[in-house]
Amino acid sequence: MKKFFYLFIAVFITELSLAQTEVRQVEKLKAAAALEVEKNAVLGQQINDMLFSFSELGFQEYETFNYLTTLLEKNGFKIQKGIAGIPTAWTATWGSGKPVIALGSDVDCIPKASQKPGVAYHDPIVDGAPGHGEGHNSGQALNIISALALKKIMEKEKIQGTIMLWPGVAEEVVGTKAFYVRAGYFKDVDACIFTHVGNNLGVSYGDAGNNGLVSVRFNFEGAAAHAAGAPWRGRSALDAVELMNIGWNFRREHLELTQRSHYVISDGGDQPNVVPSKAAVWYYFRERSYPNIKKLFDVGIKVAEGAALMTDTKFTYEILGSAWPGHFNKPIAEAMYANIKMVGLPAWSTEDQLLAKASQIELKAPKTDGLAVKLDTLGLPTPTGPINVMGRQLMAMGGGSDDIADISWSLPTIVLRYPSNIPGLPGHHWSNAISMATPIAHKGIVYGAKAEVMTLLDLLLKPEILANAWTYYRTEQTKELQYTPLIGEKDNPAIYLNQKIMTEYAPKLKQYYYNPAKYKTYLEQLGIQYPTVRPDQKEAVSKLEAVKK
Ligand SMILES: [Zn+2]
Repeated sequence: MKKFFYLFIAVFITELSLAQTEVRQVEKLKAAAALEVEKNAVLGQQINDMLFSFSELGFQEYETFNYLTTLLEKNGFKIQKGIAGIPTAWTATWGSGKPVIALGSDVDCIPKASQKPGVAYHDPIVDGAPGHGEGHNSGQALNIISALALKKIMEKEKIQGTIMLWPGVAEEVVGTKAFYVRAGYFKDVDACIFTHVGNNLGVSYGDAGNNGLVSVRFNFEGAAAHAAGAPWRGRSALDAVELMNIGWNFRREHLELTQRSHYVISDGGDQPNVVPSKAAVWYYFRERSYPNIKKLFDVGIKVAEGAALMTDTKFTYEILGSAWPGHFNKPIAEAMYANIKMVGLPAWSTEDQLLAKASQIELKAPKTDGLAVKLDTLGLPTPTGPINVMGRQLMAMGGGSDDIADISWSLPTIVLRYPSNIPGLPGHHWSNAISMATPIAHKGIVYGAKAEVMTLLDLLLKPEILANAWTYYRTEQTKELQYTPLIGEKDNPAIYLNQKIMTEYAPKLKQYYYNPAKYKTYLEQLGIQYPTVRPDQKEAVSKLEAVKK
């Protein structure tokens, strides 16, 4: 018996030291992978600057599509084009067998957000053109340089697994991810790491505190008539649109405080002397949970019915996009955060900080202390309902949406945020493009890619993380609420969106496409001095810094 005991101890000690050696081995590989990422920094800068110069709106990311798929194909990835019936969507896979890890990031930009990078005031590259005022030009650069670093390590060390890169096409209209899920592209995927630009290196888990949404266009149809000669014979579809909006704005007072709803009139008729026989209004209905999004949508349909009744018009509606509220995986977020702590934040130059502070002052940002110098803590779950904190009822008040949530409700997923943008800017705005093709963005990508590649190695080499991730997904996240798509079976991706705008602006933007064969950076190509700040901005920054000292 005693002998048996010693044997047990011996086995235990061997296993322990084996485990320790394995841990040391993983840490060594992580350091090697981080070095590989650094070697890929120029490629990251080029991908970032290239996508910035394309400035393509959702569903029209054709240049981005060609550039990225060609690049990945050259690097040995197997490409599938036009997935889920979306011409600009693709997957790029490399490796074999399990686990399968997906790496995604959005690629589309914002209407009317054209802006010269590195310039701390409004100065568009092409006036009125779309621009990367959300920084979606950077995430693929991060994923690609981390995937290439990982590939090198996997080849050398003969590590099994498959990486699948994919783009968030048309995220600004939350137009594709639910369709990817419906078409089965994530069916065999074990985990997904999504990257999104931010102003710190961070990750969170649990309820993200944001809203999901359904994006719906209401099409009204009436009857045309001479607006002066025989107006009584007309039935104005535009009247219906206006009355729907009035109705909605009255009803707004009696909706949950967590809702966000907004609209644009996407068709208001053609000319005043023709009673508009057709008109359309496009709504986003946002709420904190799937059942509440459905309820809000039902109210919208009722209000549209009322407007049609008053104007004697007819209406139809179509879903143009959807997103669930975000919920992210705890074990993977914890693994990522441990790596984030090892990577830390980039060292910003005086020029980076000057650009950031001048931009913050220009935009009247709530804080004007420049770029982040302290790491964020791990983001914790937001309470889904009201909670009592020291006698006060607190709850998450909702906010924006991202259809990555449709993937995060289908398999363990996290979002890595990386510091390529300036804190405190309005968002979906030209100013959010200022940093996006500058050293700020470039450094953020490299630091994000290091944290990502290290986490990828964790997922490939420590099977317990994936096992725990699925346990969390099954027993906590989806215990009471399972994913039901907001899109119907007959809904199709709205791939025609933004066609007109891009037909107008793509030829104008073309002359500014980045040429890395000729110029080291896009800043150099545009002849922009880094940073470009007005004398009054420079003075304001100096004053600010003097006060702090
Ligand atoms: Zn975004």
